[in-house]
Amino acid sequence: MEQLLQQIEQYKKEIAAIVPNGAESLEAYRIRWKSRLDPGAAGPARNIDLSLPGDATPLGTHHPITLVRDRIVHIFGRLGFSVAEGPEIEDDWHNFTALNLPENHPARDMQDTFYIHQNPDWLLRTHTSSVQARVMERQKPPIRIICPGRVYRNETISARAHCFFHQTEGLYVDENVSFADLKQTLYFFVQELFGKDVRIRFRPSYFPFTEPSAEMDINCRICGGSGCSVCKHTGWVEILGSGMVHPKMLDNFGIDSTKYTGFAFGMGIERICQLQYRVNDLRLYSQNDVRFLKQFTGAV
Ligand SMILES: [Zn+2]
Repeated sequence: MEQLLQQIEQYKKEIAAIVPNGAESLEAYRIRWKSRLDPGAAGPARNIDLSLPGDATPLGTHHPITLVRDRIVHIFGRLGFSVAEGPEIEDDWHNFTALNLPENHPARDMQDTFYIHQNPDWLLRTHTSSVQARVMERQKPPIRIICPGRVYRNETISARAHCFFHQTEGLYVDENVSFADLKQTLYFFVQELFGKDVRIRFRPSYFPFTEPSAEMDINCRICGGSGCSVCKHTGWVEILGSGMVHPKMLDNFGIDSTKYTGFAFGMGIERICQLQYRVNDLRLYSQNDVRFLKQFTGAV
């Protein structure tokens, strides 16, 4: 490279020497230049062929998690949901207590996380619900937000569990928001994501911050309902948790629960990735293996 730069400098000097005084015609100079590029000529310039096209710059691609997150944000964006973000290092109030998960609540056991040594009140957030708490704190209804982000759990790393993963949660608080709105919004969402023929079902569930709560399944996109390992031979795959915002949570943030109602939902982005791209090992997402990432070049 150094040698090539020196040679270019030399050529520049030669051109500068010729052009001003006209000692050499342009044609003569062209012939001299050509002889330097002659394959028979000696020196480093021998192998340069200026007529060849340059090396193409290899194009990268979006990470599959980013691809799926962007699609989710886009679909909810069309329904009027705006993106809200919050810190990954949270305090106990926003991550647990304000969300109806007081200290010693058994539901905290399912969300063991990492605590900051200097201040045990600080922790790595276990869900993006903490962003909902921060938005309700500073904004009055109507609230219509979607919160994508990274979350953490103290889990042993395996194909099915990791110490960090990604979630997208949504929150809609206004007057007269009903369970029918929740069902229709989520049905529209999965139709946009997986196709119009998708079927859904709701199963009663428990979350401390919603009442009533439900988990939503879709018919398995991999086996079409006949049964496979992904759907555990049931034909249905759980895709998200949802429910009507618990009145106590609204009161925690000074929102009049007799006037306003709302619904909330949350899903794991890796889960949707698994269904869309059939990735069965969570660890692949964070190993930075180019062979894995390259497979998503055309998936936009
Ligand atoms: Zn299946």
